[in-house]
Amino acid sequence: MKFSELGLAEPFLRAAEAQGYETATPIQAKAIPVVLSGQDLIGCAQTGTGKTAAFTLPMLDRLMQTLPPRSKKKSSGRSGGKPKPRALRALVLSPTRELAAQISDSLDRYGKFSPLRQTVVFGGVSQHHQVKALRHGVDALVATPGRLLDLVEQGYIDLSNVEVLVFDEADQMLDMGFLPDLKKIVAKVPKRRQTLMFSATMPNEIRRLAQQWLSNPAAIEVGPAATPVERIAQSVHLVDKKRKPDLLTLFLKETPRVRTLVFSRTKHGADKIVKRLKKDGVYAAAIHGNKSQGARSRALAQFKSKNPPVLVATDIAARGLDINNVSHIVNFDLPESPETYIHRIGRTARAGAEGVAVSFCAGDERGLLKQIERLTKRTIAVEKTIDGFEPTDPVSLRSGNGRQNGSQGRGRSRYRKGGNSRGFRAKTGSASSGGEQPRRRKGSTEPDPKRKKATSASSSVSGNGTRKRRRRRPVTK
Ligand code: AMP
Repeated sequence: MKFSELGLAEPFLRAAEAQGYETATPIQAKAIPVVLSGQDLIGCAQTGTGKTAAFTLPMLDRLMQTLPPRSKKKSSGRSGGKPKPRALRALVLSPTRELAAQISDSLDRYGKFSPLRQTVVFGGVSQHHQVKALRHGVDALVATPGRLLDLVEQGYIDLSNVEVLVFDEADQMLDMGFLPDLKKIVAKVPKRRQTLMFSATMPNEIRRLAQQWLSNPAAIEVGPAATPVERIAQSVHLVDKKRKPDLLTLFLKETPRVRTLVFSRTKHGADKIVKRLKKDGVYAAAIHGNKSQGARSRALAQFKSKNPPVLVATDIAARGLDINNVSHIVNFDLPESPETYIHRIGRTARAGAEGVAVSFCAGDERGLLKQIERLTKRTIAVEKTIDGFEPTDPVSLRSGNGRQNGSQGRGRSRYRKGGNSRGFRAKTGSASSGGEQPRRRKGSTEPDPKRKKATSASSSVSGNGTRKRRRRRPVTK
């Protein structure tokens, strides 16, 4: 479907065109008319589907329709003849600083030809610049929940005029323990509002919250709730835990690749991987919650550059990041929750590209692999065993959250030959995954990001299309 058929006003059609978007993605074709109509929406969409434009374009369009004329009324107090700052009318909540900054960048791009103003607030850095940006008044605000509440409590943000409330990556916000903060925020925005909730997966908690906070929402699902995008070639190496670092170095050195993102379950693990890669002469950087925001921003900027390091990330740090041309995903550890696997591999094959996702599965991770296969309803091809990397660890069927499966030993016997080796010298003969027990998703290993250092970014969009913009500056501690 063409953008021009969606009912968006001219400044937003022009913005989409300026981005080079010719046709709307499926989520955009479905969501934009709903959001424009003012209806609530619950959207289940994979990453890389164009979700951000699907809600920001019509949200900005609606804000434009009700943009109050610039008031000449003097505000009370000492501000003299200055017009009253504009009221905050759209609030977008995001789980991480990086995603918040990214949404804010999108708002900038999609609002480029409108007079709307927006900014972003997130935790960790000094609030000084954020408060300054807010003082001028913004129509839309992107925020992580913790910093938002801090600023509301200090009186810098007034939520009483919010007309549109958006929860992006809602499942991730719950995983990160933001539910109490979200409840407080919902209590502070007007009951009469439009609410949009987006989530990559639809666990029951999200459905329950949607029932409480949304009113008669349209439900939109793009692709089955938990199926990885088709264009990703997925495979697994069955390998002993202690051999994983060597396998990673070998893989990275022998595989033609553009940008590679390696996932580690823990922050400590990510640092260890980077240290080892550097020792082996592989250019690498880590991104996780214990890094200062300056280090995170730097690593991300390097990763987007022409000479990217291998980026070793924890799940939360990488979630929602829109980085194009990630050719390879390596799951150094299998994630505790199969849904997380889908998020991880969704970092590749974005914007129409193809991608490769390779997982390293130790003997005690076979249960996790089995869960992933059940959720994705496909068998992940087992790579041929490489000389010197034959798995010898006992196979145990650990399921997520460290729980042990009662059916220990089952699944050990199903051996498959072959696989689809990608760039390795290999020999045949490898085991399949095992394990049965379904599991609930649970909190991540990362701490609440609102207590961490972050940077601020704020910008405004002027009516003549020129952008006044304060660049996000890395902050070094
Ligand atoms: P998102 O899922 O919002 O993170 O978007 C993923 C990527 O798709 C971003 O790089 C967008 O710029 C790009 N994108 C979004 N909508 C379109 C479209 N209609 N046509 C082409 N690319 C798009």
